[in-house]
Amino acid sequence: MNWNWDLNKYPQLRCVVPTVFFCLMVYGTWAFIHKLCVKQLLGRHNHHAAGIALIVVQSVLFAVISFIWAQILVVGPGRQPHIAPFELVSTNTTSETQPTSTVPAKLYQCDSNGYPRWCSNCEGLKSLRSHHSSVANYCIPRFDHYCIWLGTTIGKDNYKQFVIFLFYCTVSFGIMWISAIVCYLKYGRHYQEQNNFDGNLVTLVILGAMGWFFVAGLLLAHISYMVRNLTSLEVIMLNNNKKFKKKHRKNSEFPTERTVFLSFWDEDRNERYIIEVTSTEFIKCFDKKSYLKNCQEFMGQNPLLWLFPVAAYKRTQAASSLEKQYDLDTILGTYNETVSKNAIVFLKGKISRGEYLTTLDAHGDKFLSN
Ligand SMILES: [Zn+2]
Repeated sequence: MNWNWDLNKYPQLRCVVPTVFFCLMVYGTWAFIHKLCVKQLLGRHNHHAAGIALIVVQSVLFAVISFIWAQILVVGPGRQPHIAPFELVSTNTTSETQPTSTVPAKLYQCDSNGYPRWCSNCEGLKSLRSHHSSVANYCIPRFDHYCIWLGTTIGKDNYKQFVIFLFYCTVSFGIMWISAIVCYLKYGRHYQEQNNFDGNLVTLVILGAMGWFFVAGLLLAHISYMVRNLTSLEVIMLNNNKKFKKKHRKNSEFPTERTVFLSFWDEDRNERYIIEVTSTEFIKCFDKKSYLKNCQEFMGQNPLLWLFPVAAYKRTQAASSLEKQYDLDTILGTYNETVSKNAIVFLKGKISRGEYLTTLDAHGDKFLSN
């Protein structure tokens, strides 16, 4: 779902929307527990077991949801460590000495000359899948989106918490409106006869149902993104590519699709190649062609822990490339993104067919062979 609200124009929305959302959740829980469970089920109709069970389940869910929300805010989306520029040299001047700059990744996104993506705000290189957030004012690894409802950016570090937040909200809102509807169907006539139907219960059904369709839809969308190893941003880019392709299909002057450049170190050939691929091919490079493996990259290695509000992975201490000369894998640690084996085969195929722009050397390439 794409919310094009200009948050820079209305910065107060960043506080107002999450506050309203939280108040609605508190109101819904109060209406459910007090008006439905205590007053109706326990007080009027003597359904003690059902009433107490629903009170306990909903209270626990409210506590869990609030805890996960706090966790999403405290953990934050993550911050890409600073990466100093790579030293790119002409293919004729290879050097076997120790690298004097960051050893580049085997694969990175670049321009047609091989220069990697640069973030002028952070004054550093952008690693694969990271994106500069204007709200946080730094580059966020595996940037997903800015969530106006929760009031924070969702990135690699808090994505798992975001997904289980949606899951528990779906369960909670579902219980709320289904219970209210069941209560109404069973006792609705009774209330009408006595003319004392509580308006809070109607509000509970409407709010619960609206909330449920919203969070359940978002949850399903994010599950469909995860199994394909995509972020929300990448899904938007794929959709834009489709629109672009459709728009320029009949116009032979325009390319049929946007393209990006990749710098790829082929260890078999001992050479770095600049390869042009379509933006769609590039975005799909991260798909490991296994639902489980793709989900593990977002939710953590152990599926038994997916629904628990624990960190998806143990974060390594990020090292700044300014402090010491490191290879990129060490600098990025857990923020390092890997492409699939299929993507490597695809790139090697392009090289063997001569479908590359040029070759170049990056200082330190020779250290990538082993
Ligand atoms: Zn940045």
